[in-house]
Amino acid sequence: MPDKVTDKQADVVVLGAGIVGVSAAYAARRRGLSVVLIDRREPGSETSYGNAGILSSGSIMPLNQPRLWRALPAYLGNRHPALRWDPGWVIANIDWVARFLANAAPSRIKPRATALHGLIGASLKLHREWIVTAGAAQRIRETGWLKAWRSEATEAAKQEQALLADYGIESRLLDRQAISALEPNILPVYKVGLLHTQTASVDSPGAVVKAYARMFASAGGEIRQSEIRVIAPDGEGWRVTLVEGAISARHVVVALGPWSADLLRPLGYRVPLAFERGYHREFKPNPARSLQRPIHDAEGSFLMTPMEQGIRVTSGVELTARDAPSSFAQLDQVVPLARGVVEFGDAVGEPWRGARPTLPDSLPMIGPAPRHANLWLAFGNQHIGFTTGPGTGAAIAAMIDGAPPPFEVGAFSPGRYL
Ligand SMILES: Cc1cc2nc3c(=O)[nH]c(=O)nc-3n(C[C@H](O)[C@H](O)[C@H](O)COP(=O)(O)OP(=O)(O)OC[C@H]3O[C@@H](n4cnc5c(N)ncnc54)[C@H](O)[C@@H]3O)c2cc1C
Repeated sequence: MPDKVTDKQADVVVLGAGIVGVSAAYAARRRGLSVVLIDRREPGSETSYGNAGILSSGSIMPLNQPRLWRALPAYLGNRHPALRWDPGWVIANIDWVARFLANAAPSRIKPRATALHGLIGASLKLHREWIVTAGAAQRIRETGWLKAWRSEATEAAKQEQALLADYGIESRLLDRQAISALEPNILPVYKVGLLHTQTASVDSPGAVVKAYARMFASAGGEIRQSEIRVIAPDGEGWRVTLVEGAISARHVVVALGPWSADLLRPLGYRVPLAFERGYHREFKPNPARSLQRPIHDAEGSFLMTPMEQGIRVTSGVELTARDAPSSFAQLDQVVPLARGVVEFGDAVGEPWRGARPTLPDSLPMIGPAPRHANLWLAFGNQHIGFTTGPGTGAAIAAMIDGAPPPFEVGAFSPGRYL
């Protein structure tokens, strides 16, 4: 058990030390505030550990877009590697599903893409600055991200390129030869590629979050490893109850990723947060057949990223309860496909499971809770939370400090759902 804590006071307590919480804590500390960051595990041990490590410039189109409607018939049989769904969960959460699908309407594309573009731009700027300050610059690769099609999908790739270009996001259309020149160690299975040239990636997202957490501690922040039990208003501020005592703070930031709704429920907030679960497994690379960058197999519905421990293959979406037992069906489907792209050896370690926290419009909540002063919400970063953590955290810190956030935050207001 951690040391007992009594009469501790801070300007800000940040709950959750994933990429979002660590970023909020560091940004608040940089503004001269006293900050305590709390997590039951070491920083960067959950969702922010197991992701594909892509710092994506181009993920401005959430999953719920018109293409999703067209793909639904293929998902109904529940055997597709892109999406598996638990019928019981879907029935119990039909309201969330209906709102998620409604947000796929064409009229909902532009406002959300514009909002995400602002958040992503601010976040990438901070990642590129912080990773150097944190002494982890060797972990970032500026080699882009390759989306690749096995079929003659030039039109689809061109459409995607045009949409990105509307937002000033650069990409390069590639044919089979150009893909081979770019990734000489993969087999020639892809006919068309789109290289997101302004996207970066890291070789260990968990290690990057840990490096940011050390940077926060070096700047005078405090990290406590403890289970958070309850948060409750206390005079003008908040009381955060831990297993070993309590901390009082003027401001509390909820950055608990997929667990964020739990501590808010006793305060009367019913957060429509769902869990797009995903899996990864890592494999021993063949040093003579290395990958230079993450590859997204568009039709195979998986990603492969070269990581510190090996090639990390990540799966599509499993829509079910956050804590339902694991099912490795999607990984089992895609690993043989990945082996057909690049040569790799045995698995390293066990398969990993995580939950992308997603609100019905696929935009995170970034801002004040509507019915409680000094309670700040920072979660719901869906498929791109590793990318967007720094911008999310910096915006929260700015709002706490009464300063303008580094991008337009209106679309992320928690009040839209609470
Ligand atoms: C398979 C997969 C691939 C992905 N790939 C990418 C990618 O390539 N690029 C990208 O940008 N994003 C990616 N994502 C999404 C990204 O990983 C998440 O959006 C992001 O990590 C969420 O960060 P977070 O800080 O909100 O949550 P988390 O990292 O989950 O942090 C929440 C923290 O809260 C703590 N906590 C919860 N409850 C309590 C409690 N009661 N007491 C104490 N501590 C508590 C947990 O221990 C945890 O550390 C991927 C996700 C998955 C699943």
